[in-house]
Amino acid sequence: AKQLRLLLGDQLNPLHSWFQNVDDDVVYVIAELKQEADYTKHHIKKITAFFAAMEAFATYLKEQEHHVCYLTLDDTKVYADLPDLLTTLAAKYGCETIYYQQPDEYRLRNQLQQMAKQIDLPMFEEDTEHFLLPFEQLREHFTPKKHVRMETFYRFMRKRFDILMEAGKPQGGAWNYDSNNRKSFNASDLKQIPRPLVFNNPAKSYLTRIEDHNINTIGESSEQIDYPINRQQSLQLLNYFCEHQLPNFGNFQDAMTVNSPYSWSLYHSRLSFSLNCKMITPLEVIQTALHAFIHSQGVITLPQIEGFVRQIIGWREYVRGMYWVNMPDYSEQNFLSANYDLPQYFWDGQTKMQCLKSAITQSLEHAYAHHIQRLMITGNFSLLAGISPAQVDEWYLGIYIDAIEWVELPNTRSMALFADGGWIATKPYAASGNYVNKMSDYCKNCRYKVKEKISEDACPLNSLYWNFIDQHYDKFSKNPRMSFPVRNWDKINSEQKIAIREKAANILSNLDKL
Ligand code: FAD
Repeated sequence: AKQLRLLLGDQLNPLHSWFQNVDDDVVYVIAELKQEADYTKHHIKKITAFFAAMEAFATYLKEQEHHVCYLTLDDTKVYADLPDLLTTLAAKYGCETIYYQQPDEYRLRNQLQQMAKQIDLPMFEEDTEHFLLPFEQLREHFTPKKHVRMETFYRFMRKRFDILMEAGKPQGGAWNYDSNNRKSFNASDLKQIPRPLVFNNPAKSYLTRIEDHNINTIGESSEQIDYPINRQQSLQLLNYFCEHQLPNFGNFQDAMTVNSPYSWSLYHSRLSFSLNCKMITPLEVIQTALHAFIHSQGVITLPQIEGFVRQIIGWREYVRGMYWVNMPDYSEQNFLSANYDLPQYFWDGQTKMQCLKSAITQSLEHAYAHHIQRLMITGNFSLLAGISPAQVDEWYLGIYIDAIEWVELPNTRSMALFADGGWIATKPYAASGNYVNKMSDYCKNCRYKVKEKISEDACPLNSLYWNFIDQHYDKFSKNPRMSFPVRNWDKINSEQKIAIREKAANILSNLDKL
């Protein structure tokens, strides 16, 4: 019996068992869809990269002699949505069953599961064969609405997949070298920052279609797609990372600067797009990095490789588990009752705060920011200013090349905004200007003064930070991990407290003017 097999834009995994044999009774569908291009307002570079990677995958499958139905926005505009497209194509090709790989997003999985109930054709869901931990085992490690320690999960993954282990013990004697990984850049470090590997994939045809179909986008467009759009380029990026960036990955993981032509990329791999589209697997990323570590003759040290391994087998797999056990409730969480609007400068970078300006401007330009910019610049600001989590989510989901809800949402709601009240982090990642000044050189060129709290020119993060502690005093004083800032707030005299509250209130009522 003939089968229609759907491949979503983030299911471009050439190693999947589906492709082991060519089967004349199978038709693969890869389709640009309006519902995917505009379920949120995406960065234009994100859509072009997705479309280009989808077309490249369709071409690859055809070269392998698979039967592929590849459709552009022009072709799919007649279909109301994905179910409409699938039922029409099944009829057209005489298919009696529809197969799909399990979507990583709740929204899409729900849509396909609903569809399966409504149509006469049998529909089957299969594994994406991408993640290390099988979907069915997530429940063994994650419980809805319960705190799960990332570190516990990470150690389990290290043992389970035997990564950086020696006779059942962590290599080097410690599980985690995070405390070594907190360097900021000095003048000579800045000169060493490697040039990022960018590709020159053409974007023109996708840009035309995005415009023709009135897809609303954000960010700067470009006729060049910098990101890998196929497996071969993804592997090239991975090898480049291992050679040039991995040797310092951990050291400068949390560092930020404006003083390098490569400030936007630093020692980060930029592999998230390739990984999330499944052009490469997390296991091969780790194996390649471990191979580089073993053969580097000491150039790559244990803290560097451990830091990288933790991101992939720890954080990435962990947020996936958190997402699935907590959806759909996750997207409703707002523990701190945050409800301010996202200021306009998130969309145009027009703010005098140098840290925000740098992180936002580069996001609009590259559809990319590194982790600490996402967490401690735009994220921390949104946390302290009490911006509505729904609006913050929307921004993150749209702007980044790698943004897919399963990984975006736990990072935004939980890590950045503490909107889950502690499922992931046991306390909010809240910081005043002092942290930004320690980890970056942003404050040096800033109009605001990082050492000041309440003066006209004072860094807004300072009064917002203390105001945040004050506003949520009841919640935070019950949290032992917040006792330090809570006690420090208690020690501030009442006159100062009034001045801080006033300053913060003033900032909050003029958030758009910072
Ligand atoms: P590197 O610094 O080189 O790290 C290597 C890899 O580790 C990444 O490619 C990624 O696959 C993985 N990784 C690292 N940190 C995390 C993390 N916290 N969660 C999951 N995977 C991680 N990542 C996304 O892929 N999509 C998102 O939409 C996304 N949204 C985020 C929103 C916020 C508020 C925050 C704080 C983080 C978000 N992240 C997201 C996680 C992380 O910032 C990005 O994965 C990373 O910046 C991608 O760049 P890179 O490939 O150069 O990462």
